Amino acid sequence: MKLIDGKQTAQDLKKDIAVEVADFIRQYGRRPHLAAVLVGEDPASQTYVRNKEKDCKEVGMDSSLYKFPDTITREELISCVQTINDDPEIDGLIVQLPLPDHLDAQEIIETIDPSKDVDGFHPVNVGRMVLGLPSFVSATPAGIADLLEYYKIPTQGKECVIIGRSNIVGKPLANLLSQKGPGGDCTVTLCHSRTKELDKICRRADILIAALGRPGFLKANMVKEGAVVIDVGISRVEDKNTKSGFRLAGDVDFEQVAPRCSYITPVPGGVGPMTRVSLLKNTLKAALKHIK
Ligand code: NAD
Repeated sequence: MKLIDGKQTAQDLKKDIAVEVADFIRQYGRRPHLAAVLVGEDPASQTYVRNKEKDCKEVGMDSSLYKFPDTITREELISCVQTINDDPEIDGLIVQLPLPDHLDAQEIIETIDPSKDVDGFHPVNVGRMVLGLPSFVSATPAGIADLLEYYKIPTQGKECVIIGRSNIVGKPLANLLSQKGPGGDCTVTLCHSRTKELDKICRRADILIAALGRPGFLKANMVKEGAVVIDVGISRVEDKNTKSGFRLAGDVDFEQVAPRCSYITPVPGGVGPMTRVSLLKNTLKAALKHIK
């Protein structure tokens, strides 16, 4: 069994991005710029946004934070997104999800200029990705594809099973891995909460991806000997032995499953850091597109 080290891979890729950013600054006299919109006080969202700002700084990009209380109205939020859309100095824009209940996240996403939608959530980018056209691919699926490529894990003709059909992970990932060409060409089965005989389907997988948000869900009896297992899940579970009183857990029962795998990602330190790198890659891509 080989551990897929997402943290180290992300560090390596960030070094390459920093070189490209330095080139960009030399050529065009400004830094690529990511704007994040944060509504409310959700601690996890605050951490995610802080990390994104830290990542930008690390590779030499600018970042701005637009922070609002959860009493912000729909009109005020849309107006903020439009202001950022119109700002020629800003290349990428993300609205941190989830939003408070009175705001319709889909409506807000659809007000983002697709050329700045570095999360790849706008229907234009999703549609282009499905058609195999150049687009911003959402960060977690893109990060997983990069991890497979970095570890030279073949995908062509492989049976891939994905558990979880969310718009941000499962669905785009299923599309990405079944695209024609390098990094794709998998035969993908997308499973969800209504899937029958999930264990049996999982046991077919050469590449098994768990993205359902249920800690320790994937057990050894669901994994074929020699499979590649990618754990996307991140849940906080109570742990009295830690200072904070909780720890992060993936969707895979790591202890049980790891001995059966050829490759496996840990949680934390697997997919998470790669998601962050993908956002940087998309921001650089957006900046290059805007300049041109
Ligand atoms: P979600 O929470 O929107 O949906 C969960 C999906 O799992 C649904 O499609 C549902 O049908 C499926 N599901 C639930 N129970 C199931 C069961 N018993 N059997 C089969 N399928 C079942 O999904 P999400 O937003 O993609 O998040 C999934 C997990 O991935 C969460 O833990 C989330 O925190 C994590 N996540 C991690 C990253 C990262 O960067 N590592 C990024 C995004 C999400």
